[in-house]
Amino acid sequence: MTAPSAADKSANAAAKSVRVVIRNVGLMLSGNLARPILEADTVVIDAGRIVAVGRGADCDIDGADLTIDARGTALAPGLIDSHVHPVAGDWTPRQNQFNWIDSTLNGGVTTMISAGEVHYPGRPKDIVGLKALAITAQRSFANLRPAGVKVLAGAPVPEQGMVEADFAELAAAGVTLMGEVGLGSVKSGDEAGQMVAWARKYGIQSTIHTGGPSIPGSALIDKDVILEADADVIGHINGGHTSLPYGQVCELCERSSRALEIVHNGNERIGILTARHARELGCAERVILGTDGPAGSGVQPLGILRMIALLSSMADIPAEEAFCYATGNTARMRGLDSGEIALGRAADLVFLDRAQQSAGADLLESVQLGDLPGVGMVLIDGVIRCQRSRNTPPATQIPLVIG
Ligand SMILES: [Zn+2]
Repeated sequence: MTAPSAADKSANAAAKSVRVVIRNVGLMLSGNLARPILEADTVVIDAGRIVAVGRGADCDIDGADLTIDARGTALAPGLIDSHVHPVAGDWTPRQNQFNWIDSTLNGGVTTMISAGEVHYPGRPKDIVGLKALAITAQRSFANLRPAGVKVLAGAPVPEQGMVEADFAELAAAGVTLMGEVGLGSVKSGDEAGQMVAWARKYGIQSTIHTGGPSIPGSALIDKDVILEADADVIGHINGGHTSLPYGQVCELCERSSRALEIVHNGNERIGILTARHARELGCAERVILGTDGPAGSGVQPLGILRMIALLSSMADIPAEEAFCYATGNTARMRGLDSGEIALGRAADLVFLDRAQQSAGADLLESVQLGDLPGVGMVLIDGVIRCQRSRNTPPATQIPLVIG
């Protein structure tokens, strides 16, 4: 019999609801913009939740079933991709790839949020059919987490003819998200506003497509429609891929109070300008990050890390703040129990270090110089899901499971 791997051991530990202690963290990134760096080197996890964060001497580290020596690396909340288009398990028909979610886990992502299962082959657009698809997607991703990643799916794209009772039915069936308004036949501000209002009434969070058409069949959604619709998330405010003129994007930042979602598969220039503008306006807490993948330009397993490095290096945003855009900001705007290293939060965590041979002296400097960090380990609900990433550049130092 072979010895259990660290992943097996960790999964077993979680199954028994026991304690995981993480020691010797060199840099604790909280995910909270108000205090992005914590004076702490230790995290204690019990039954998949964070029960202590602090200096080792101040934490009860006894009784650990699993101890991880961070060896001076950085610990951050698991990254959240606010905008994906999943279809079925770990397969995407968009570029016909398998295991794209597992690959993305290797990019530090622990939660993905569907903006609609729009790549489903032959996607039904009649109302019964779109409700059935949404409920099926919600169920299937709730029943099975590909690679352990939390995929929040089941996001119906609203179509003309939907009535309030449809939203009540969807909510009663467990649907909590509405797919991108504008990808279906609902395109005017007043119609979109009605759908968003019904969704909100039944606790369903909404996202609106922003900018030019993304694929044949979608259409331009401009700032007037977005302001009138008032969806919870201004989806890919930097276009998906074609952006609105920057003046309209500024108006959305200034006149709306909703989430400003910047995506990888968008206009990079507008993404950079939006992040800078939001910070200057004092509303950086509204900035959240997504990939909008899988997409025409493929699957980007490192897409969220690339967004963090892009915004930090090109929009002059301190790296520790850019990490908050992909963690605590998204969790707060989306009502998730992850996204921060704080008491009671789900222990979705990623160990990071500067990539080998980066010009940056440490993790934060390397990101501010535009380099991607290396991922050394990822935990979801306190369970080790991957160790040294197969996709990031190699981290200089990686954590070690010591028992
Ligand atoms: Zn879109």
